Amino acid sequence: LTAPGSRFEMEEIEIRGVPTRVWKNAPPTLGVLAQLARLYGERVFTIYEDERVTYDANYRAVCHLAQKLSEMGVVKGDRVALAMRNLPEWPTIFFAATSLGAIIVPLNAWWTGGELEYGLKDSGSKVLFVDAERHARLKQCYDALPDLERVVVSRCDEELGGNVSRLEVLIGTRSDWASLPDIPFPQVAVGPEDDATIFYTSGTTGNPKGALGTHRNICTNILSSGYSAGRAMLRRGEIPPAALPHKVGLLVIPLFHVTACSAALMAGIASGQTIVFMRRWDPVKAMEVIEREKVNLTGGVPTIAWQLLEHPERANHDLSSLEVISYGGAPSAPELVKRIYEEFGALPGNGWGMTETMATVTQHSGEDYLTRPTSAGQPVATADLKIMTVEGDRELPVGEVGELWARGPMIVKGYWNKPEATAETFVDGWVRTGDLAKLDEEGFLYIVDRAKDIIIRGGENIYSSEVEDVLYAFPGVMDAALIGVPHKTLGEEPVAVVHLAPGTVATEADLQDFVRERLAGFKVPVQVRFVADTLPRNANGKILKKDLRGLFVGEVAA
Ligand code: AMP
Repeated sequence: LTAPGSRFEMEEIEIRGVPTRVWKNAPPTLGVLAQLARLYGERVFTIYEDERVTYDANYRAVCHLAQKLSEMGVVKGDRVALAMRNLPEWPTIFFAATSLGAIIVPLNAWWTGGELEYGLKDSGSKVLFVDAERHARLKQCYDALPDLERVVVSRCDEELGGNVSRLEVLIGTRSDWASLPDIPFPQVAVGPEDDATIFYTSGTTGNPKGALGTHRNICTNILSSGYSAGRAMLRRGEIPPAALPHKVGLLVIPLFHVTACSAALMAGIASGQTIVFMRRWDPVKAMEVIEREKVNLTGGVPTIAWQLLEHPERANHDLSSLEVISYGGAPSAPELVKRIYEEFGALPGNGWGMTETMATVTQHSGEDYLTRPTSAGQPVATADLKIMTVEGDRELPVGEVGELWARGPMIVKGYWNKPEATAETFVDGWVRTGDLAKLDEEGFLYIVDRAKDIIIRGGENIYSSEVEDVLYAFPGVMDAALIGVPHKTLGEEPVAVVHLAPGTVATEADLQDFVRERLAGFKVPVQVRFVADTLPRNANGKILKKDLRGLFVGEVAA
């Protein structure tokens, strides 16, 4: 597959002083990807409810929107924030901004007004694209954001004015895009090492950190996933096709996550997929869509696969078009692998990655996955992995558990405006992942536990410290810990363990409401357990969460 002249040729170049293996033929920038994708012409690019946008129509809209952004004064390096649900205009805005060399900042659509405001302030975004819901959540704070010059709202009925414009006035509605006149693609010099994206990840210290990604980071995944898929086909004795077949993908995870944007959307665009968007995840609607649009690929996080498998309505739908159900981002049970294969007749796929690696670092599918269902797969061809001691002073041999470090052209530059956190996490081209893992003789990766303290609920990260900080703000809370308890379909759910000062009266609902007012709904503990004593701690004063889980897990699950 890596023979000279093939699409999968690699070369070694220096990136920020570090020798790095890169794909020779990957699109160098997102702008080049957008222009290549136009070759799919009249093929449907996105389907959303009754809206269908072709590849050509999207391209036209990208050029027109880029021109409007340019007229607004957006230049290379400016930040353009994007806070909306998965809508067909999401990729259009993404490509319009990045084709000008601006940095696109996808913000978590589930964040509350305060959280979104933090993202806008931290990134210093000059322009913000929002849907009507986010507009309602944010409009009262626009004036307080010093860097924000323009807001563009999509699908909004209310009266707008001042610096707030309507997307549909700028470039028409989705059905107008196909007849937009041909205008040139932006002529801005953008290179593979230029900044392209800021995706927010949470840190254990509380505030989310913006992972600053380059054009190469995101474009590199396109060939990596194609190569890994081809390699898996060869192992099964199948010959990878010379021309890419036209597949239909159902995208159900939010585009503000790198898994959705990089691994699903960008890779899907490169292979000319028709991508069906859902406003929000709903297993019944998903089954209807799979049947109607003959969807071949779906997944995202293990929860999605579980909910389809377990749904009582499944028998009433023809889901036989499904070929691959792949996921990553969270631990998955080996039972899931077997059930996807047996009950859907589809190939299960898994992959490990994180915001700091712009999604895919390992990939796992087909026979390899069926025989090693506890592994997250082998590294993609341009990635290197190593297992280090938790102190980071020594590499560990095969089979031993330590902290996973990863390197390659997909690793982001660092955190936006956070030099200290960057220096701690990014070392000589390697990213310290915070995951405890081991590798086997053949390079298969096994994630053992998370060194960092996060709970992953249905693919959404909940950083305990962020919720604990809120709990601690409740009058009378003396001690608080958030622990993850196993949940069959969501993977984990957050449960708070709280010790109240003597004489304080508070109920579970009081604390849940308190968190709900301050943080996104998925972070609200499903239960609050009150304990009479302070929580168990180690010698350094860190709460022994393992012990807490041991105390409560059996009880909570029952
Ligand atoms: P995020 O930055 O939100 O993408 O979260 C990344 C984290 O998700 C990783 O550090 C892992 O803890 C977890 N994760 C990602 N992929 C997998 C996987 N395939 N299996 C287990 N955990 C995973």
